[in-house]
Amino acid sequence: MIDQLYRKAVLTVAERPPVEHLMRSRGWGLAQRFVAGEDIPSALAAVKDLEKDGVMGNLDLLGEFIESPEQCTAFADDVLRLIEAAHGAGIKPYVSIKLSSVGQGKEGRGKHEAGEDLGLTNARRIVGQAKRYGGFVCLDMEDSGRVDQTLAQFRTLASEFGHEHVGTVLQSYLRRSLADRAALDDLSPNLRIVKGAYLEPETVAYPDKSDVDQNYRRLVYAHLKAGHYTNVATHDEQIIDDVRRFALAHGVSKDQFEFQMLYGIRRDLQKSLAAEGYRVRAYIPYGRDWYAYFSRRIAETPRNAVFVLRGMLKG
Ligand SMILES: Cc1cc2nc3c(=O)[nH]c(=O)nc-3n(C[C@H](O)[C@H](O)[C@H](O)COP(=O)(O)OP(=O)(O)OC[C@H]3O[C@@H](n4cnc5c(N)ncnc54)[C@H](O)[C@@H]3O)c2cc1C
Repeated sequence: MIDQLYRKAVLTVAERPPVEHLMRSRGWGLAQRFVAGEDIPSALAAVKDLEKDGVMGNLDLLGEFIESPEQCTAFADDVLRLIEAAHGAGIKPYVSIKLSSVGQGKEGRGKHEAGEDLGLTNARRIVGQAKRYGGFVCLDMEDSGRVDQTLAQFRTLASEFGHEHVGTVLQSYLRRSLADRAALDDLSPNLRIVKGAYLEPETVAYPDKSDVDQNYRRLVYAHLKAGHYTNVATHDEQIIDDVRRFALAHGVSKDQFEFQMLYGIRRDLQKSLAAEGYRVRAYIPYGRDWYAYFSRRIAETPRNAVFVLRGMLKG
């Protein structure tokens, strides 16, 4: 409950125009702890750097709630350029996209996509391109109002391109997620399990952290037991230890799951897990539209708010 209140307070303050203006003009130096850079070369350099520690990358071009259909398609074109560049640099493309950024909820206007959701049309182009290079696309999960459509579009894409090339995310704070997981079983889906980063009402999300954590374990264990590839995306060391114990006790091999963490957070843990032979992947955001992502990271832990306040006072 306190976590929810803290998150709500930070996100509400962060949305206020004067705060956003101040942070956008003076906060980039601080944001770089969590964001790899503003362009593709910086993002690819971050992947190469992590590879030295045996950690894989998951590239994310930042951009949320992009308004016009043309901007959404231009954003999708940028993701295609990212995939090309990664392949060109000898990196197997692994990218995450937010369907809202590529037009989810908007109707396509081109002659091929007339009448279809633009998010699906653009996601199809992106997953197709990634598949061409043996890569993978994860459809990030956004606010609860988008879950039904995101899962439906994931189903379409997984049927068309195969679960080796597209996956999605379930959030353990949502009361519905266990049922959603079971309903996807027929696809043998590659799922990332997270706790959830948005402000959600109690009607749809557990307000208490202990319930969110318990549901997190339930989701991971159920997905591993079902025999599907599981991305355990958390910095919670207790949960990470429990998952390791669960895997050992149930004979789940190290190539059936991976740990995922965010760029700039717990690199020590990322490195030590990789050294122990676990698959580890860092989520590497980059791009000019870093503010919303940065706000969510601050909202996750008061330590980050202190880091930002100190930085602003120094600056
Ligand atoms: C790879 C990856 C992909 C994600 N994708 C999505 C997504 O698609 N949709 C979505 O809603 N959310 C996503 N998230 C965010 C997620 O929902 C959580 O908000 C975030 O991971 C923090 O929760 P936690 O699991 O680390 O646990 P917590 O219980 O919040 O934290 C566990 C420990 O990690 C530390 N910690 C957590 N966050 C931070 C931070 N920002 N900085 C420093 N320390 C921190 C805490 O202080 C605590 O010690 C993703 C997270 C990861 C790691």
